[in-house]
Formats: sequence, structure tokens, C-alpha cells
Amino acid sequence: MSKSTLISPIGHIKSPFKQKFAIPRQPRLATAALAIIELEDDYNHPDLVRDLEQFSHLWLIFSFHQNIQQGWTPLVRPPRLGGNKKTGVFATRATFRPNGLGMSAVKLEQVIVDNNKASIQISGADLVDGTPIFDIKPYVPYSDIINEADGGFAQEAPLTPMVVEFSAQAQTFLDSVSTPTDFKQLIEQVLAQDPRPAYKKNKADDKEYAVELYQFDVRWRVIENRTIVTNITLIDTDI
Ligand code: SAM
Repeated sequence: MSKSTLISPIGHIKSPFKQKFAIPRQPRLATAALAIIELEDDYNHPDLVRDLEQFSHLWLIFSFHQNIQQGWTPLVRPPRLGGNKKTGVFATRATFRPNGLGMSAVKLEQVIVDNNKASIQISGADLVDGTPIFDIKPYVPYSDIINEADGGFAQEAPLTPMVVEFSAQAQTFLDSVSTPTDFKQLIEQVLAQDPRPAYKKNKADDKEYAVELYQFDVRWRVIENRTIVTNITLIDTDI
């Protein structure tokens, strides 16, 4: 007989990824993605993060909240296997799963304590903006690193097949506007993975793609296996 347990978020992430599209499939593939974990009032006290800064990395346990409503299936088609082969949900990191829980190891950048409140700056997360965080734990290398571990059908990090270039217009924007730390590197890391749908790969493609990173709209085209960032604009956040 199953017993249910009610859990509620201890915080939410403020992430540069404003939509699921183009988020890397695992943490630390876009190390330039800086995010902040904002704690809920009940947990927002320096006591809860005391000594956390001794650790370089953290585990985040979170909800795939944007997919919960769609439910889950026992068999899924991992992108790793080309999207054709079905695999058991528990053999994947699929976002559609019982309980809809995700886990990511991220780099701790800074514990910020101000006015008796605390927040946590991290980098390399693969979470969409607003994702509810259920727990934070220190990454403990002596136990969490398993040298003999076998990665099954996901042995290596995904390829980053695209060379990313910037149009004169995009480069002028980056040179003239104040942007978040490592913003250009973040664009390169995200687009180098070629986030287009799998069926577009290795095909002629004249579509312009767009992704929202921080408060910027980033546009790009793929021309003969080169990704050209065509334009970057500041999104009017007052609308
Ligand atoms: N590292 C985690 C894990 O293994 O549990 C997540 C892996 S999952 C394959 C990563 C993808 O989840 C991202 O590329 C993004 O598209 C999606 N994602 C991130 N945050 C999400 C959220 N809050 N709700 C639904 N999908 C999300």
C-alpha cells in the first residue's frame, strides 16, 4: 500500500532560461548560466545555510513543474537514442515521470546573507526560471563520485556540434549594452549544442530560431553547420 507525503518547495530558482527550449539536458553543460535560489519565507534565514559555503557543489531536488499536468508514461524515447527507441522511465532522466522530481548537481557560487535573509547563487543549472526547489544538499565527493560507474546509453556528454558566430549587429549589441556576467559565453554554450528539434539536424534550414536568456531575446540561424547569432534585443520587461 502506498502512503503519500505532502512536500512543498523550500524555494524557487531565478534562472536565465525563461523557457524549456534550449536548456541543456543536464547540469554543468552551460557553466555560464548563473542562477539564484530564492528561499521561501519559512526557510529564509541564515541559520539554514550556515557552513554551506564550505562545499563547492550542491544537489538540487526540484519539480519538473511545467510538465506535471501532462502526466507520465512507463516507456519514454530518450533523445540520446535518436528519439526512436523506447526505454523504461526509470532508466532515463525524462522530465515526465512519477512524482515529477528532478535532481541536478550544480556549482555553488555564493551564499548571500543580507538583512538576516539568505539566497544562494549557483551556476550550471538545467532548470527553467521559476522551478520549485524541494531540497538542497551538499555534494559530497567521497560518496557521490563513483569512478567505476557505467553510464549505460549515456556514456559521454552530448556533442556540441555547432560553431557559434555572432553577426556584426549581435556583437555591436553585446559591446554596447550592459549584460549579465558571461552572457556571451552562455549564448555560445547553449547554441553549440544545437537545440533545434532532432529532425532538423543535418538538413537545410532557413528558419530563424529564438530563445529568451535572462531579459534578452537571442535570435539565430543555422547556415551549413555554423550557428550565426543574428540579433540580440532587450525584452521590454514593462509590457
Ligand atoms: N538534471 C535533471 C535530472 O536528471 O533529473 C534534469 C534533467 S532533464 C532531462 C533537463 C531538462 O528538463 C531541461 O533541458 C529542460 O528542458 C527541462 N526542464 C527544466 N526545468 C523544468 C521544469 N521546471 N519543468 C519541466 N521541465 C523542465
